[in-house]
Amino acid sequence: MTGKTVSIRDLDVAGKYVLVRVDFNVPVRDNKISDDSRIRAALPTINHLRNSGAKTIICSHFGRPKGQVVKEMRLGIVRDRLEQLLEIPVLDAGGPDGNDPYDRTRKMSNGDVALLENLRFTTGEEANDDGFAVDLAKLAEIFVNDAFGVAHRAHASTAGVANHIPSAAGFLMEKELEMLGEVVTNAESPSIAIIGGAKVSDKIQVLHHLASKVDTILIGGGMVAAFCAARGWSSGAVALDEAEISAASEILALDTTEIVVPTDVTCGSEFAESTPAEVFGSDNVPANKLILDIGPSSAEQYASIISSAKTIVWNGPMGVFEWDSFSNGSRTVAEAVGQNPSCISVVGGGSTAEVVSTYGVADAITHVSTGGGASLEFLEGKTLPGVAALDTYK
Ligand code: AMP
Repeated sequence: MTGKTVSIRDLDVAGKYVLVRVDFNVPVRDNKISDDSRIRAALPTINHLRNSGAKTIICSHFGRPKGQVVKEMRLGIVRDRLEQLLEIPVLDAGGPDGNDPYDRTRKMSNGDVALLENLRFTTGEEANDDGFAVDLAKLAEIFVNDAFGVAHRAHASTAGVANHIPSAAGFLMEKELEMLGEVVTNAESPSIAIIGGAKVSDKIQVLHHLASKVDTILIGGGMVAAFCAARGWSSGAVALDEAEISAASEILALDTTEIVVPTDVTCGSEFAESTPAEVFGSDNVPANKLILDIGPSSAEQYASIISSAKTIVWNGPMGVFEWDSFSNGSRTVAEAVGQNPSCISVVGGGSTAEVVSTYGVADAITHVSTGGGASLEFLEGKTLPGVAALDTYK
């Protein structure tokens, strides 16, 4: 098992203080949490620690207070929700820095749960300051990271603290690493990657990395224009720079995977929801039109390729799915992924997660990643500092 991150399930935590980093950065509207799924996602780890007799001190960031105490970004509202979900009182551990959290938490009993104040109220968090990492480490005998969403950041609570006390991955972190790892390293054929989103520059490293891992890559989103230009066709009205076109040319030249570029595209005259949709062949896009979605024939072709895939990884919508007239590509692809019962499907990236939930197929997906930036960096083949910092099996 050398090299594999230590799992929470192998720890003896009875009677011990355990510091757990979670991602409770929940959306709030009108002073209320509008979606508590991030809190719910951490419950398996928290409940496991409680049932195993640990004294659990939870910590998270919330919003972007940039090292200042911001009243609206206090974690009280999150603590209230956590108390409702756990059906026990959750101690306010104060802080996040200094001795206060230590003093407040010393009388905890086995099975108790405490929540530290917003980690980003101190500049030490994002600066990965060792003094703050030591403050955190003093609170506990073991550190558990269950915050996959911030694993691509080297902060005091994601990386620094693990230099000082034994560490492990929580259940959510473990599932993310297993599922994303599965589609990248063990992809059963036919395996496909569906890559879309706003810009080719955001996805070029993912395309490179996945090109040697999957059989076929389906191209969608704003980068279709760069691929049209790379084929020597018009890219329409979008302003592309040379770097974007040569990035697309490089991908097309790879012979490790089949790159599928849409044969037709849905365009508008301007980047506006009200612009009328018109379909053109990809080799025939007028110079005054913007490509805003893959076309209907391409959507059907993609759906057919998806229907026979055994492994699917999807990052980035096929078009501006937020606008009805340009949502067909993303909806058709989402439904095709949802209707393939025998494949392993992994969706990464905030907007792609939104697509699968908008079209009601999220439950049919094997794994929808909770980490936008983190899942993208994982699919780019990068080492995530929040994972690299954790102990591995010897
Ligand atoms: P990303 O976060 O990179 O996956 O990008 C998601 C965003 O890409 C969504 O908000 C889409 O509206 C946008 N997008 C998808 N296709 C296009 C396109 N053809 N032109 C402009 N934006 C697009």
